[in-house]
Amino acid sequence: MPIIRPPSEWRSLLVRITRGCKWDLCRFCGIYPHFGEPGFSVRTVADIKNDINLLKQQHPGAETAFFGDADPLQAGVDTFVEIAEYLRKLIPVKRLTCYARASTIRKLKEDAIKNLARAGLNRVHIGLESGDIKILRFHRKGQTPEMIREITDWLKKTGIEISFYVLLGLGGSNHWHDHIHETAKLINETGPEFIRIRRLWLYEKDAVLSGPESPLLKEIRNGSFQPQTPEGCVVELRYLIEKLDNLSTFVICDHVNNYVQVSGNVREDKEDMLKTIDSFLALPENEREAHYRAVDSSL
Ligand code: SF4
Repeated sequence: MPIIRPPSEWRSLLVRITRGCKWDLCRFCGIYPHFGEPGFSVRTVADIKNDINLLKQQHPGAETAFFGDADPLQAGVDTFVEIAEYLRKLIPVKRLTCYARASTIRKLKEDAIKNLARAGLNRVHIGLESGDIKILRFHRKGQTPEMIREITDWLKKTGIEISFYVLLGLGGSNHWHDHIHETAKLINETGPEFIRIRRLWLYEKDAVLSGPESPLLKEIRNGSFQPQTPEGCVVELRYLIEKLDNLSTFVICDHVNNYVQVSGNVREDKEDMLKTIDSFLALPENEREAHYRAVDSSL
């Protein structure tokens, strides 16, 4: 299967510490089973180091590295630190990042996070998804706003940058207002370095990939989740940016699935981002609808 990574890591060395997602319960997801990684496993240190040796031969001048898959800290802090130190000694990258579940970081506690920072972890990509506890529960995310507040405090103390992912449409058409209101509130309280915007996109069973569909599709069929409209996603994006305080957080829509692409520092570029969205919403309805149909829905 492909190594799933943030778009910002397109030039990074990609090192798999683990395979798949140990949690694998989020209703809106199912990405690893869908793309051919139905289970979860921790790779051996010997295999990972062997990969790093090969990467050194192929990309000796690499400047950034990313550790996967969904939650590589599941390998344990000692293993993670050993691999990070090995990589940095062999290839002196300027930036080392990984995906991480908030609940996993919380279990590690503050001292372990200091060890990760000392080993050279610079940034974690965390699926915030929503700041609304009811929505997080419905989607079985396994995290709470309180947990997010606690771990951001620990991470900030160590200097590890935080990149949160927000999923437009996660509250559906019924609960979108609470979804965005609570998400903006949590972002304002925690002040991450980055907010990366995604919109809900579900994997259907297809003829090429044999993996299962996203669990949320069942909830849509039985009527317990009402999907947001494309225009609703754009309105959510506008409301989210409008509600953000005077933060130095960088907002970025770095995925082709986003209907409107804006990016900028909230403090400096908020008005410009809102103007871009308003200009789009002022287009004739037939143009907006044509645009929604044309926007890709892909990984
Ligand atoms: S959203 Fe992340 S934690 Fe949840 S199932 Fe998908 S990969 Fe796992």
